[in-house]
Amino acid sequence: MTQTNSRVIRVHPNDNVAIVVEQGGLAEGTIIEGGITTTMAIPQGHKVALVKMAEGDQVVRYGEVIGTTLVAIASGSHVNETNVQLPTAPALDELPLATREITAVEPLEGYTFEGFRNPDGSVGTKNVLGITTSVQCVAGTVDYVVQRIKHELLPRFSNVDDVVGLNHSYGCGVAINAPAAIVPIRTLKNIALNPNFGNEIMIIALGCEKLQPSTLLSDRPVRIYENTQAADPEANVLSLQDDSFQGFGEMVEGILAMAERHLERLNRRQRETCPASELVVGMQCGGSDAFSGVTANPAVGFATDLIVRAGGSVMFSEVTEVRDAIHLLTPRAIDEQVGRALIEQMAWYDDYLSQGQADRSANPSPGNKKGGLSNVVEKALGSVIKSGNSPIVDVIGPGERLRRKGLTFAATPASDFICGTLQLAAGMNLQVFTTGRGTPYGLAMVPVLKVSSNSTLGKRWHDIIDLDAGRIATGDASIEEVGWELFLLILDVASGRQQAAADRLGIHNDLVLFNPAPVT
Ligand code: CA
Repeated sequence: MTQTNSRVIRVHPNDNVAIVVEQGGLAEGTIIEGGITTTMAIPQGHKVALVKMAEGDQVVRYGEVIGTTLVAIASGSHVNETNVQLPTAPALDELPLATREITAVEPLEGYTFEGFRNPDGSVGTKNVLGITTSVQCVAGTVDYVVQRIKHELLPRFSNVDDVVGLNHSYGCGVAINAPAAIVPIRTLKNIALNPNFGNEIMIIALGCEKLQPSTLLSDRPVRIYENTQAADPEANVLSLQDDSFQGFGEMVEGILAMAERHLERLNRRQRETCPASELVVGMQCGGSDAFSGVTANPAVGFATDLIVRAGGSVMFSEVTEVRDAIHLLTPRAIDEQVGRALIEQMAWYDDYLSQGQADRSANPSPGNKKGGLSNVVEKALGSVIKSGNSPIVDVIGPGERLRRKGLTFAATPASDFICGTLQLAAGMNLQVFTTGRGTPYGLAMVPVLKVSSNSTLGKRWHDIIDLDAGRIATGDASIEEVGWELFLLILDVASGRQQAAADRLGIHNDLVLFNPAPVT
C-alpha cells in the first residue's frame, strides 16, 4: 500500500499529497517523486503537494478527503492548516451499519504469557496493591501511607510489585446525582477491579463526602472498619473520621494494618502460563505527528489483529479522533446494534462538545500541527488505523467494563491521561501508546509500551521509547515486521520478563477522571 522513496511517502495511490520523510525536512528546489520540485522549504512530517491544486480542490490523504484548499497551491508546495479548510464531519444518520462481510481469519495459536490469574477469572500482568480513595480530601494521607508501606511492608512481600494510591479530584463538591455523574463513579468502582490488583479491594474514605464508599461497593458485600480495638479482620473500608482514631498516627496505623492483610494475600499470587487470549490491551496515541498514521499506528493495527486472532481483547478509544473516520468504522461493526452503539457514542460527544461551545476543531493540538497534522480529519484517519482490520464486536461507554473478547470501541475523550484512566477502568492489563512528538507518559497500574512514529524521536528518546516504528518510513522494516515485534514485546512485558521503559524509569502519570457532570 505504501510507496516509499528516500524523501517522501505517499500512503494511497489516490493521494495528491505526500509526507516528507527526510530528516531535517526538504530544502526549496529539492526534486522528489515524479520529478516534482519543492517550491519552498517543507519540514519533516509535513505535506507536499504532488499536483497543482486550484482554490476549493480536495486534498486527499489515506485515499480520503482531509479538506479543501483555501487558495491555489502549486505542485511542490507546503500543504498545512493555513491553506486547507476542515470539511464537515460525516452525518451520523446515514452511515452504513455492519455492511462489511465478515471473513474468517486464521486463529493464532500457541502464544502464551506468564500472568497472575485472579479469582474472578481475569489475568493480571503485575501484582499491585491498589488503594481506592473515595474523595480527594484523603489523597495526602494516602500518599503518606503509601510511602510508609513501600518502606516498611513491601520488603516483606517480595511477590508484590508495587502499592499505588488511586487518588483523584472527585468525591465531593460535585453534583453526585446528576445523570452524567455515573461516569466518574463507575470509573472509580471499575478501576478497583482492574486485573492487576488481584481482586483485593481496599478503600480509604473521609466520612462526610458525597461519594460514600458504599456506592463504590454496591454490588458486593463489604465490611467497614469501625473500631481500632476490635478491628474486623475482613474490613475493606476505612474512614479517617472514624471516632475511634485518636489523631493522625492511629489513622496511619489502621491503614497499615489493613494494607498488610491485603499484601499477605497478594503475596501468594504466582505467575502461571496463560494463553494470549487473556491479554486485554488498550491502544492509545498521544502527541501524534504526520508519521503516526503511516508507521506506528498501522504497526499497532497489525498487532491488534494478531491479538484478536489469538482470542484476546483489544480496545481503541478517543472519540474526537474517531468521529471524522466514523464512516470507515460503522461498516466494521459485527451487527447493526453495535453499529448504532458506535453512532450513539459519537452523538453523545457531539452534544457534549456543543454544550461547552467547543467543536472538534479544538483538536489537534499546536504540537500536532507543528508535526504536520493539518486538522482533526487527517489526525482521525491516521488514528483509527490502530484498530487494525478486525470486526468491532462491542462498544462500551466511558468508565464501563469490557464485556467481550475481540475488538471493542471503548468511548473516551482523546486526552491521554483521561483515556488511560478509562481504559484502566475497562480492565486493560497492558497499554500500547504511540507518539510522534514524544511524551514520557506512563501508568503505575499497568505496563505502558511506547511506540515512536519516527526514528528521530526513537533515537533522541532511546531510553523512554520501547519500540521505534519510524523504521517503516525509512524502509528499514515493514508494518508487518514491526507489528510482530510489538506483539512479542507485549507478551514479554505481560510476563514480567521485560520492563516497559516507563516502569524501569519510574515515570507514572496521575489518574484523571472524566466528569461530564456539574461541579458544585
Ligand atoms: Ca490520546
